[in-house]
Amino acid sequence: MERINHWIGGKLVPGNSGRTGPVFDPATGEQTHEVDLASSEEVATAAEAALDAFPGWRATSLSRRAEIFFRIRELLEQRKPELARIVTSQHGKVLADASGEVQRGLENVEFACGIPNLLQGGFSEQVATGVDVYSIRQPLGVVAGITPFNFPAMVPMWMFANAIACGNTFILKPSEKDPSASLFLAEVLADAGIPDGVFNVIQGDKVAVDAILEHPTIRAVSFVGSTPIARYVYEHGTAAGKRVQALGGAKNHMIVLPDADLDMAADAAVSAGYGSAGERCMAVSVVTAVGDIGDELVAKISERIPNVHVGAGTDPDAEMGPLITREHRDKVASYLDSGRDQGATIVRDGREDPVAGGDGFFLGLSLLDHVTTVMDCYRDEIFGPVLAVVRVDTYDEAVRIVNENPYGNGVALFTRDGGVARRFQFDVEAGMVGVNVPIPVPVAYYSFGGWKSSLFGDTHMYGPEGVRFYTRGKIVTSRWPDPATSKVDLGFPRTR
Ligand code: NAD
Repeated sequence: MERINHWIGGKLVPGNSGRTGPVFDPATGEQTHEVDLASSEEVATAAEAALDAFPGWRATSLSRRAEIFFRIRELLEQRKPELARIVTSQHGKVLADASGEVQRGLENVEFACGIPNLLQGGFSEQVATGVDVYSIRQPLGVVAGITPFNFPAMVPMWMFANAIACGNTFILKPSEKDPSASLFLAEVLADAGIPDGVFNVIQGDKVAVDAILEHPTIRAVSFVGSTPIARYVYEHGTAAGKRVQALGGAKNHMIVLPDADLDMAADAAVSAGYGSAGERCMAVSVVTAVGDIGDELVAKISERIPNVHVGAGTDPDAEMGPLITREHRDKVASYLDSGRDQGATIVRDGREDPVAGGDGFFLGLSLLDHVTTVMDCYRDEIFGPVLAVVRVDTYDEAVRIVNENPYGNGVALFTRDGGVARRFQFDVEAGMVGVNVPIPVPVAYYSFGGWKSSLFGDTHMYGPEGVRFYTRGKIVTSRWPDPATSKVDLGFPRTR
């Protein structure tokens, strides 16, 4: 069986830990590859390669870095369909969705092409007589990114584009469930002229993650994944003296007010709830129906469900693919029974979709109504095609539920009332807010991040906050004095 290796110092490096993990095609249920799982020694080898490459890369001019990033952008644009096919073959999402993922990732590479502007500092002339002050931002050194299975191309691009453009060298630890996209990216970066050792890939699991968190050379860690692991990475990484941004899970609410266009809201709920089989951290997982619209909204969502074609990601007619593993599919499906046992109504049961009976890891679109905030299907991040409808009487109650939820990633409001929408963005406790936009993923020149248990750390990811995360500030106070004014003065430096 074909092995998926590490990428260290500009070349493929077969693993030597003696440990591997299986990689499946979720549409067929067949194992297609084995992936190397690194030992801590292999992580140390990658850290050494990255450290060796750092002095040369940080000294590379901004113009040259920008030139290489423009080339990465061109190569990725040309090879987008290849990368999308790799994503589909191991993640399962439909090709159009995989291509959308690559495109949104590419926007971060485009942002990084502007690195000469992004690293501009400030300058104050004559802060004291003959003294000028300027601020610069410099790279941290070797930094690492640990990424989840659900965006094997885009989330690495969220991280490495800014990290490398800022002058750092980078170690990527992708999800062991769909690791091939990382090697495709490594090849593209090498072809574009990124020097050996600037971008490295370590395949692995918890052993590799722990080694990254402990390795003294690695200065900063970006993490995206589930909340318990995000908390663990944040606590252990910061205890080891590293800068850490750790993005966690989500439970995203879409609040529908009585004045909303219910057809548009139903279209949005189906698109955002079931796109990528619900395996998006910005997926809508709870629809909150306000006032007396519950019956009508549920009917409109339910009537759309049979029209969504579920199938292999490579099937051009398929709109929703399988889940990532059999175990995950079974866990997601179990929330239907637990929801019903705890008092919810199963309006659509995805286990009845014929495609759910095959060898692939499929579950059809599922809809639960009359869900309350004490049920497991509300409290847990399900991360699958199960949409829960919660009915409330008022806008205030809808917002209170969102604000009491431990997660705070994305949230959306559907309404025609601009005044209420404005109040909503003021009141709601979440990092990314959509007004009649169900998946408000920020564009690459803003930054991505949730609140509460959806983010551990102070800086959001990519965009301006990404540049900040991967650099540290330095203030230079300089005097080029007239020798005639020089004298000894033991007083504290004065500006006037
Ligand atoms: P995960 O937490 O299981 O894995 C993420 C990474 O952590 C992987 O690289 C994995 O190898 C590693 N890991 C897993 N278990 C570990 C352990 N015990 N110790 C150390 N490292 C470990 O997440 P996933 O299942 O790959 O991805 C889905 C999750 O990611 C969902 O919770 C989703 O909401 C979240 N996510 C969040 C965002 C965001 O921006 N907030 C974006 C995408 C996904």
